[in-house]
Amino acid sequence: MAERTAVALYARISRDPNGDMLGVTRQLQDCRAEAERRGWTVAEEYVDDDTSAYSGKSRPAYERMLRDITDGLIDGVIVYRMDRLHRRPLELEHFADTCKAAGLTDVVSLQGEFDMGKSDGLFVARLMASVAAHESHVKSERIKRKFLQTAETGAPYMGGGHRPFGYRDDRMTPHEVEAAAFRDAAARVLAGETLYSVAGCMEAQEVTGTKGSKMTPSALRSLLLSPRNYGMRVHQGQIIGEGTWTPLISAEDGERLRLLLTDPKRRTNRAARRYLLSGMLICGKCGATMKSHPRNGVRRYGCGIQSTKHNPCKGTYIVAEPVEALIAEAVLVRLDSPELVGALTSTVDEDKVHAVGDEIASDQRRMDDLAAMFADGDISREEWKVARDRIEARMEANRKALARMTRRDAIEDYIGQGASLRDQWDSLNLSKQVPIIKAVIESVTIMPSRASGMQRFDPSRVQPVWRL
Ligand SMILES: [Zn+2]
Repeated sequence: MAERTAVALYARISRDPNGDMLGVTRQLQDCRAEAERRGWTVAEEYVDDDTSAYSGKSRPAYERMLRDITDGLIDGVIVYRMDRLHRRPLELEHFADTCKAAGLTDVVSLQGEFDMGKSDGLFVARLMASVAAHESHVKSERIKRKFLQTAETGAPYMGGGHRPFGYRDDRMTPHEVEAAAFRDAAARVLAGETLYSVAGCMEAQEVTGTKGSKMTPSALRSLLLSPRNYGMRVHQGQIIGEGTWTPLISAEDGERLRLLLTDPKRRTNRAARRYLLSGMLICGKCGATMKSHPRNGVRRYGCGIQSTKHNPCKGTYIVAEPVEALIAEAVLVRLDSPELVGALTSTVDEDKVHAVGDEIASDQRRMDDLAAMFADGDISREEWKVARDRIEARMEANRKALARMTRRDAIEDYIGQGASLRDQWDSLNLSKQVPIIKAVIESVTIMPSRASGMQRFDPSRVQPVWRL
């Protein structure tokens, strides 16, 4: 579908024969959602109110939109239903002519789209308009609207299901214990604590969902993302206004939570490589590499996940977060240890390092000489470029060889920096964390747990094999 960068949204309030009113807010919200779904940019929203008069000349916004189409300012139109756009067939014909003259082809109603540039486009539009006119009599439509009207008054949703977490059965009054737990959880997540750790604490305090379900990190996430908790009324997945109940947290905090928990950076990192130690954990029972194996929204590593008949071990599992924290801490401590500095220098062949270092230094001198020769007019620009490219390539290769020999490529900036790295560790993304860990640790053997079932993290099961 073509990209559209200046789309018009049109909404109209009217009084239909049933006496029902379809809120203009709702029309606009659905149209905005449609634009977003298509990746179209909205240029302007045109809204008319003709509830008061049944006159043909009371639609200033519509007239303005037609002028903007004619002036070429608009490249698409989205309208809730075709009967919002026109009240009489003649208006539709005029609208079609205007679009055609301006070269505007994309007219979308939420019932479907039609290409005004094509001959059947107008026909489909007419059909849609007449269908829309009758649709309002359909019973299910009226019931849906009833719900919507209730929603628009800001009254809580009283349909089936349980009361929402944090509220009593009237869905208005905060439930003291749950509301306090919710506020505490929101504050901690906003302060940077992970969903995993906060959900764990709630579980320890025996806070459950309203039906007694376990407070998993993913359950906590959807709870924190629910606009209801900061006083917003949601209808069919969209915020339509303020609710009449007591909010648990401020709208500002609600918005901050939304930004934090839906941050694409946060999501991409996790999707790309959510497991810090992936490929590094070895099953202490069978020696296989452990793989990611989440359960109930909790990240875990486990053995024999892609098990074959030859390796049905499946004997070792470990919850990811504490083992990752432990290994990271161990690495950071190691970075500051005298052993590490010793290990770094002892593994290096000093003579070779000096030889490569000398080569890099003399190449640097050659580059300087070359620049001087070019400046003095001894060589042409072309000759200078050819020579320079060759020297640069050699220098780059030597730098890499030197880095390999000293194994400092990943960590040279970090040696002796363990303490300061600790402060920023959580803000580094995995692509930074992984090389630091790999530079210091070869692998980590995970011993089978002594008891069965879920239990507390046992650090003695974790046995790092140090590289340095
Ligand atoms: Zn195993």
